Amino acid sequence: MNAEQADLPKLIQVAEGLIVRQAVDNMAWIDLGEYAVVVDALEQPELETEVLSAIAKTLPGRSVRYVLNTHTHYDHVALNGALVRRHGAQVVDNASGAIGAPGRWFQGSRRKVQMLPMPSCHTEEDCVVWAPQEGVLFVGDIFGWGLIPLSCELTDQTGALLVQTVNRLIAFDAAVVVPGHGPLCSTAELKRWVEYLHWLVAEVRRAYQAGLDDKAILRQVPPPKDMTGWWRFLAWKHADSVTKVVQAVRRGKF
Ligand SMILES: [Zn+2]
Repeated sequence: MNAEQADLPKLIQVAEGLIVRQAVDNMAWIDLGEYAVVVDALEQPELETEVLSAIAKTLPGRSVRYVLNTHTHYDHVALNGALVRRHGAQVVDNASGAIGAPGRWFQGSRRKVQMLPMPSCHTEEDCVVWAPQEGVLFVGDIFGWGLIPLSCELTDQTGALLVQTVNRLIAFDAAVVVPGHGPLCSTAELKRWVEYLHWLVAEVRRAYQAGLDDKAILRQVPPPKDMTGWWRFLAWKHADSVTKVVQAVRRGKF
């Protein structure tokens, strides 16, 4: 899929009553039976009319009872207010740490979903949403098509927690993985990313120890061939990841 196609909004019916609006920012609405939940709420408030009519059309007669925010960055919450106003929805996030480690279930007669904290990969409040019946896992910005998602410094400790968390996501064995941004993927891409990170760290360490400067390291560690089709990976994500690892190694923290 080329970048332009991936950036155009499209409604993907992952399962009956489980719809993802896939674009640069992703959003989903899920029918639980008596009511619906929404996962994330985009960046642009001006999409209110378009999105609310798409929900009404694809889940006729359902009102949105909860908006689940994987985290509260501005590009995930823009339509929260519209859903509160027009559906009487309640916004659920883990900004205050209110969702304990066992997570919180939302259950209806048709299906149930679980919101589960997986903190400190992208933000302190990261949550994933799991729909077990269809094996659909919403991972927010923990998986970013080749990005190292940490907003804090990469160190041995934060890197280890990140890998440990992605391994927890892999253990769900999800059939469909919905990242916060860009195309949908599967558990295979999560596994590939963990391998990529290990490879990247080893290659950057070797190049650094050989005395190469940053530009030479970037040339020495080219993007893996099988990942060249990853969304925005060649454009900037690989270079960004190399730079983050180089800086961590240079700081002596990695
Ligand atoms: Zn974010």
